[in-house]
Amino acid sequence: MTTAYVGLGANLGDLRRTLEAALADLADVQDLTLDAVSSAWRSAPVGCEGPDYLNAVARVATTLPPLTLLSALQVIELRHGRERPFVNAPRTLDLDLLLFGDQIVDLDRLVVPHPRLHQRAFVLRPLLELDPTLDVPGLGGLAGHLPSVVDQLVEREDMPLRLP
Ligand code: AMP
Repeated sequence: MTTAYVGLGANLGDLRRTLEAALADLADVQDLTLDAVSSAWRSAPVGCEGPDYLNAVARVATTLPPLTLLSALQVIELRHGRERPFVNAPRTLDLDLLLFGDQIVDLDRLVVPHPRLHQRAFVLRPLLELDPTLDVPGLGGLAGHLPSVVDQLVEREDMPLRLP
């Protein structure tokens, strides 16, 4: 069993409903258990125009290999109408494999730990909510990266995401 973390983000359509549906789909993936989900965090888009995002992070336990998990995430994205008209375009649903145990993966299709996770408050804050002591290969203690993202506006929503 490997503990992995999946980042979820949506900025088109009914954001909360999309995240909740994506979590239900994630929980349905074979050989995977949905362990915990962070609060929903609202954030301004980084590196692109468009409406605010709603983000969250899920912790899963799985016996799947990392590339199979990535494929499962991409199937869920497609199910929710993800299109890629241009880089950083607004998206109905974006799923990222943030961490896969303490494994380092460096392939064309998959880079883990996700290369930008420590630069984004909307990833760091929900990740640290799930495990404040997270230590990441190559990055060390994640909490130590919070000061460099304090200028990014993210807001925790009081209403928890409804879980499957
Ligand atoms: P994005 O548009 O940011 O969702 O990027 C999607 C592309 O990034 C896909 O072609 C994936 O194969 C690739 N990719 C590389 N590493 C990761 C990762 N850790 N999680 C999700 N997608 C990844």
